[in-house]
Amino acid sequence: MTDYEPVIGLEIHVQLSTRTKMFCGCELSFGDPPNTHTCPVCLGLPGTLPVLNARAIDFGILLGLALECEIAPRSLFHRKNYFYPDLPKGYQISQYDVPLCRGGRLGEVRIHRVHLEEDAAKLVHLGESGRIHGSAHSIVDFNRGGTPLVEIVSEPDVRSPEQAREWLQLLRTTVRQLGISDVNMEEGSLRCDANVSIRPVGRSELGVKTELKNMNSFRFIERGITAEIARQTALLDAGEPVVQETLHFDPQSGSLTPLRSKEEAHDYRYFPEPDLVPLVVTEEMLAEARAQLPELPAARAERYARELGLADDRARLLAFRSELGSYFEAALAHDGEDPQTLANWVVGELVSRIGDADPAQSRVAPEALAGLVGLLRAGRVTQGGARQVLDRLVADGGDPAAIVDAEDLGAVGGGDELGAIVDRALEAQPEEVEQLRQGNMRAIGPIVGFVMRETKGRADGKEVTRIVRERLGLS
Ligand code: ADP
Ligand code: MG
Ligand code: ZN
Repeated sequence: MTDYEPVIGLEIHVQLSTRTKMFCGCELSFGDPPNTHTCPVCLGLPGTLPVLNARAIDFGILLGLALECEIAPRSLFHRKNYFYPDLPKGYQISQYDVPLCRGGRLGEVRIHRVHLEEDAAKLVHLGESGRIHGSAHSIVDFNRGGTPLVEIVSEPDVRSPEQAREWLQLLRTTVRQLGISDVNMEEGSLRCDANVSIRPVGRSELGVKTELKNMNSFRFIERGITAEIARQTALLDAGEPVVQETLHFDPQSGSLTPLRSKEEAHDYRYFPEPDLVPLVVTEEMLAEARAQLPELPAARAERYARELGLADDRARLLAFRSELGSYFEAALAHDGEDPQTLANWVVGELVSRIGDADPAQSRVAPEALAGLVGLLRAGRVTQGGARQVLDRLVADGGDPAAIVDAEDLGAVGGGDELGAIVDRALEAQPEEVEQLRQGNMRAIGPIVGFVMRETKGRADGKEVTRIVRERLGLS
């Protein structure tokens, strides 16, 4: 059977958190009563004219720079015509052949383009309870209509469902750090379509793609793409072609159902928006945006790898969840001796205890974690002991050294105390001692185990091994 390689390109819509809408003065709203943020412009009444939102342009430029795009000095708005109840004008104002941003990259995925447009209104489908004269109805809430959007289109550079999820998380962190959107998938301020095709491994030509529409969680995106790759693989294996179409993924059943095929695809009859002048980006606007750019996750990950010597995956884990990175840096300010161990304790031990929560909101102060790693390095506490201290810190907070003393979790020191316990272990296990003398080092396990039981895990395994070798005169 042929081996296939998935090829995935992503299209992402992000609602910008400006104060007002894209082309009118209505304030953006979330959760306000329906149709309370509308005006003749965003209701598409005849005789009205759009006025471009300057802040949305600034946000678009910021995003373009963050994604290393080329910013067009002059870009154009078009009308994208289609009929739907959520689109009162009968067209959406969007950018078409000359978008604000072109090219660029985020991590290992190239960006094709980024453009500005307006959101449609929201259709609410009433269920049984909302039946009017006995039949089902849908109502339109125009509050969302005209909300500023950016659409980000990637090149087809993604190669697996997991990579799609990870990359989208990186994109979300990046956008959030720019402060231009809430990027909340449940609330719809971040929405993603995935284009999926497969091709025989080694071939450069792309396969026929399908498009999965509007998946509203990272987990669903990963699962939807996985299901679509499986569906396409089964088709090709059976000698049947993949048909270009738009699909809906139902996370409940895991099924994929067609929404529309290429033949029924819209003809949007794009033409230049006659009511808007071209969007001109000046050098000043660019300079201002550049000055505002914060350190972004991708750059942060590179810095961790370059300056602190962290492994790439560690660096990315910390940087892509920016709250972890900030916490790590706060701890690092208290103990910069060994960034790698500190990083391991943040993304390993701490995260395994607090999950997705922000560590800054946990009871473990950054200096406490730094202090614990310091105790570990000084040999005052063993790995096992340090884990117990962290359990206490997560539960109650406090100072690690004080917990070590209060709970008697300190490492059993080298020298006399540990030596005496090792002697008892050797006495208790003559068979293992004999095997050790004959050069079978594996027999050391039960002896170390004995010492660990005696010390309740507070002995340093390496030190125990050293003393055993010394006692038995092994090299
Ligand atoms: P369309 O004209 O159908 O909108 P585009 O060429 O504009 O297609 O691309 C839309 C998205 O689909 C982009 O993210 C692009 O990277 C991705 N894409 C294009 N061709 C393929 C393919 N064969 N397989 C997977 N993704 C693709
Ligand atoms: Mg498209
Ligand atoms: Zn309005």
